[in-house]
Amino acid sequence: MIRHLINSYLEPKALVLMYHRIAAPGKDIWNLAVSPQNFEEQLQVLSQTGEVVPLHELAARAKEKRRRKRLIALSFDDGYIDNYETAKPLLEKHRLPATFFVTSCNLGTEREFWWDELENLILYSAHLPATFAMEVKGVLIKTDLGHEAEMSESLQHHHMHWKASHTSPTTRRSELFLALWAAMRVLPDSEIEELLQQVRDWTKSEVAHRPTYKSMSTGQLAELAKQELFDIGGHTKTHPALGHHSFDFQKDEMAANRDLLQELTGYRISLMAYPYGHYNAATLQAAEAASFDAAFTTEGRTINRQTHQHRIGRFQVSNMTGTEFTKTLLEWALT
Ligand SMILES: [Zn+2]
Repeated sequence: MIRHLINSYLEPKALVLMYHRIAAPGKDIWNLAVSPQNFEEQLQVLSQTGEVVPLHELAARAKEKRRRKRLIALSFDDGYIDNYETAKPLLEKHRLPATFFVTSCNLGTEREFWWDELENLILYSAHLPATFAMEVKGVLIKTDLGHEAEMSESLQHHHMHWKASHTSPTTRRSELFLALWAAMRVLPDSEIEELLQQVRDWTKSEVAHRPTYKSMSTGQLAELAKQELFDIGGHTKTHPALGHHSFDFQKDEMAANRDLLQELTGYRISLMAYPYGHYNAATLQAAEAASFDAAFTTEGRTINRQTHQHRIGRFQVSNMTGTEFTKTLLEWALT
């Protein structure tokens, strides 16, 4: 028993890191952006470990017996343009491999992801109508914004420092945003778009096109894919919370994304990551049926021999300095 415990403690771990954006947007309620400076510090730490391998290699070797070395792999979700413009050159500079899990619906367009646009409309619009009422799947979302209808400096400051993943909303606007986000997230993309249009109409806004919130172009994706260090993985066509949908819907989302990415890259797409890390039993079967060799969640845990090949955990890296990152990596490796 004790020997088993010691072995499991000493056994070199395999862990996958998850990034989304390499940028300093000034507001980041989901903790998804790492600044270019902190990212470079993190890459320096990682290159000193000598443990970073391509994700497909980690997925294949994680279950090896008598592996001597700890393994780390890097992954990026969604396909934001900064992955190409900012992450790519820094990864190349440090010669570190990475896999980019790309949602295909916005590739080569000026569109933003719905969650970014919704956040900007509700939390940062200068003027909003005082009352909001919208029915989502038979449930009425209704609020009176009171004095928050007009944006103030303190309200803006408050929203810029709010972390939706850690703290409950304390303003009417942030309450409204979170209620809408939660109600919309479970829906198929076509319904999300209809509701988002209603929000745009309510705020009297056009479709948003902030250049730093768009996805890569198809040419940028192809260029990224050609680089030996990098690999492209699936992240569905429209980024649904998969576990809320039927097996067929899930498989179609995965297959449409896979086919387009295969066409753009010219190679087989063998890995995928579940949007929002959301999945159910049907998701694991759908990923296998869509011929993905391995699939990744957002549950922060290392990989061991019992890990299901279509439910591999990842650790979300936040905007931390190299020193904080070194400490956090050690903690993760012990989980
Ligand atoms: Zn995603």
